[in-house]
Amino acid sequence: MSDIRETVVIIGSGPAAWTAAVYASRANLDPVVYEGEISRDMVPGGQLMFTTDIENFPGFPEALGGTDLMERMKAQAERFGTRVVTESITSVDFSARPFVLRSSGGSHIVASTVIVATGARANWLGLPSEERLARTGGGVSSCAVCDGALPSFRNQPLVVVGGGDSAMEEALYLTKFASEVVIVHRRDSFRASKVMADRVLEHPKIRVEWNAQVTDVLGDDFITGVRVADTLTGEVRDITCGGMFVAIGHTPNTAFLSGQLALHENGYIVTPDSWRTTTSVEGVFACGDVMDSYYRQAVTAAGTGCMAALEAERWLAHHGIERPAAAVETTA
Ligand code: NAP
Repeated sequence: MSDIRETVVIIGSGPAAWTAAVYASRANLDPVVYEGEISRDMVPGGQLMFTTDIENFPGFPEALGGTDLMERMKAQAERFGTRVVTESITSVDFSARPFVLRSSGGSHIVASTVIVATGARANWLGLPSEERLARTGGGVSSCAVCDGALPSFRNQPLVVVGGGDSAMEEALYLTKFASEVVIVHRRDSFRASKVMADRVLEHPKIRVEWNAQVTDVLGDDFITGVRVADTLTGEVRDITCGGMFVAIGHTPNTAFLSGQLALHENGYIVTPDSWRTTTSVEGVFACGDVMDSYYRQAVTAAGTGCMAALEAERWLAHHGIERPAAAVETTA
């Protein structure tokens, strides 16, 4: 079998991955990015590919599209020599060094160091109307902090779906812009911490539709309302709104690791040293949303991508791999 030998393999294609690639390539580490291949649940570029306008990434005073930002980051990494492979990493063996990875294209990659930046995907309700409007910028979002301040959401009734801390946080954030925030929750009590739930319940601009499940999102090009079914009686009613924010949790993209890195109970990669991107395996680093269930912002992901590349560079230097050869193909 043909082995591809690499010094730095970066897995992912969101802000963390591209920032790691910019730093690693500028440090002459000759990184390769496995950006993933398009599938039903995945497009290279990660979650920002579903974001129409980004107004909070520093350096862009005018809003720019998520796709645009990702293309720019990728181009910046490529400018310094980053190689990009449009395949997914399907399995890893971190039990010995160098590490071994397999790709969806059948490659067997032997890597000195690996940066995992595979992100997390927002959970969605799974409704076709929800997917269509989320993809086309039709007023359906999974991130209030990213999208809530957009002009189209101002002075409108906005719906938040979910009953956890994220839903509480999104609802409170949206009160700055919305005429009213309606939380649609499928049960009669919140999962969120008491302090967050109390803050929501006391807020004059927020009301809760208890025991309600969204069954359809209404509107052709832009959302006009949601249809909900009462989870106890089955009764159906419509709620008029100018936006829907789905806050029903995230799933980190860690399945391909098959237990090779320590994960938190919620599936996110453990980075045991605070303010570091080191993982449970020496020489493997993690950055971006795959290790961060808390901030989940493009700019924080980019920051940890920078950290991971600097850590990889220092780790390679410490192990005497300071001037790595270009990737070579060998026959095992
Ligand atoms: P979460 O705690 O898992 O809550 C998800 C919510 O979505 C639950 O209320 C759940 O309903 C609902 N839900 C799940 N699937 C659904 C579906 N198909 N249809 C309708 N509703 C659905 O997720 P999270 O709120 O994102 O929080 C994740 C973690 O981050 C938690 O540990 C949380 O405490 C933490 N967090 C903390 C803060 C903070 O401290 N400021 C902020 C954000 C998140 P059920 O309740 O019926 O299961």
